Amino acid sequence: MIKKVITLAEKWFGMEREDIQWFPTIDNDKCTNCETCLKKCSHGVFENINGKVKVVKPFNCVVGCTGCDPLCPEGAISHPPKDYLVNLIKTINIKNRCGCNCKED
Ligand code: SF4
Ligand code: SF4
Repeated sequence: MIKKVITLAEKWFGMEREDIQWFPTIDNDKCTNCETCLKKCSHGVFENINGKVKVVKPFNCVVGCTGCDPLCPEGAISHPPKDYLVNLIKTINIKNRCGCNCKED
């Protein structure tokens, strides 16, 4: 299956990328700064700043991708639950279909 990559310049189901809270979080108590995530992600989400791997461009994370989570040897990376996106899509669909102009809010 071909996955479409949503860039910052594009909208996701009509939403601005910055309005979608989908990005990785690093548990600093677990992270050993091994850079596995940094090397895996080709979207510039991570950076090593003074020896500490950090999420520097969270909204570059591809909506729906969790590719780096299972690669972290320490289990230090997490994303929101998929239900977050499912509920977001439901909300968008309701707004687009109900015809009461609520999508203009
Ligand atoms: S892969 Fe995990 S342990 Fe390694 S730098 Fe990334 S978050 Fe830290
Ligand atoms: S989930 Fe995918 S796009 Fe997002 S930071 Fe990890 S590898 Fe990069």
